[in-house]
Amino acid sequence: MKSIKPGRGPSMKAGIVGIAVAIFGVIWTCAAVSMGAGPLFAMFGIVFVAIAIFDVVYNFKNATGENRYSVYDITEEGEETDPLNERFGAKSTDDDDNAQQRNGKKSKFCPYCGAELSSDFVYCNACGKKIP
Ligand SMILES: [Zn+2]
Repeated sequence: MKSIKPGRGPSMKAGIVGIAVAIFGVIWTCAAVSMGAGPLFAMFGIVFVAIAIFDVVYNFKNATGENRYSVYDITEEGEETDPLNERFGAKSTDDDDNAQQRNGKKSKFCPYCGAELSSDFVYCNACGKKIP
């Protein structure tokens, strides 16, 4: 598994922006309460500030910590499956081979662009031309 980690510079910048957002949230909440806003408005301000503080902690951890949280994990086939891919399409090539062996299907290729096609495709999913 490979990971994409956020840069320390962008994380530091996001952390500083987060502090400004948290300060703004505190001022907003105090102003709203002093103007006689109801508890619902105050609650909104408190949640807003809490999210901003969480963001600040997260970003400063990524800016200064030795181990940054990954933004994306790049996984190899078989390391981790995607439930939506399994459900809606895009089978891995290994699975395709196994499925073809089980079903006795042969894979074919687009005569126009050479892309590999499932045998039940009517149109090429690479170039969009109709398969003869
Ligand atoms: Zn094609």
